[in-house]
Amino acid sequence: MNKISQIEKVRDEITQARVHNKTIGFVPTMGFLHRGHLSLIEKARAECDFVIVSIFVNPTQFGEGEDLDRYPRDIDADTSLCENAGVDILFHPAVEEMYPTHDADNLLVSYPDLSKKLCGKFRPGHFDGVTTIMSKLLTIISPDKCYMGKKDGQQLIILNRLIHDSFFPVSLIGCPTIREADGLALSSRNEYLTADQRREAAEINNNLKIVAESLSSGNGNIEEALTQAIVRLEDHELTVQYFDYVDIETLESVRTISPGSYLLCAAVMCGTTRLIDNYSVIVTSQGACEIDRGIKIQLSDSAHV
Ligand code: AMP
Repeated sequence: MNKISQIEKVRDEITQARVHNKTIGFVPTMGFLHRGHLSLIEKARAECDFVIVSIFVNPTQFGEGEDLDRYPRDIDADTSLCENAGVDILFHPAVEEMYPTHDADNLLVSYPDLSKKLCGKFRPGHFDGVTTIMSKLLTIISPDKCYMGKKDGQQLIILNRLIHDSFFPVSLIGCPTIREADGLALSSRNEYLTADQRREAAEINNNLKIVAESLSSGNGNIEEALTQAIVRLEDHELTVQYFDYVDIETLESVRTISPGSYLLCAAVMCGTTRLIDNYSVIVTSQGACEIDRGIKIQLSDSAHV
């Protein structure tokens, strides 16, 4: 595996891979890799000839007072994990490499409307940071396929739009959410949780499951199901920022069960740690609900592999 921090060197390697007609798979991450990240890398390895993983804690997607400085980092452990997973290039640039005009008049790629919905209400500027860094990374790497997690549902939806509207010649592959045995979605931020908070955090998935079952059983009172879920979560000392059922394209709230694609999604504060999760829901023309909850792993201690 080649560990590279310079854009020019990555480009040279990719040019070489292209000369040999290799298909390029790309997995963008912020590091502190867990089994969720590894599932994306495994899929890229299975489907592409040449796999690039980026590790970059992108400062522009963190707001004032957020966890940029304390975001967990362990580049040595991540390097071994990537090596063992058969990654060809680990791209680990410095902030100055990705933002060469830092502090001057920086590039901003933005969806003014979508970026303000759901998580955007609570993290102003977050998705602008995500779309800006992803347009830089996709330009540098020009992958054939880019693998990202459905766990970050709004991010996936916005990046699908970015790829479509910017004509990036890449397929964005949404991969299933990998969950702990008790259902908590794996996240680098789970590292922040105390043992008590870690137990309570499983309630997020439990409540997504309850509301999803209510949708599947045809209970049309979606508002009531969502309100009850919020009450149950708050009984567990969790602070709910949103718990919503939204259209997958507009991210607008939906309160009827009608054919289409939706996200049942939540953002919850567990102490000072912000956790997000979602199930994707397809309602067929016959009114049946097909729900994608992701995949549970069987080991309990997997916050960091
Ligand atoms: P991050 O390092 O948090 O920016 O995540 C990098 C990529 O891994 C994103 O595409 C995430 O959606 C994906 N990811 C994070 N957690 C999970 C998970 N539990 N299951 C599947 N993918 C995940």
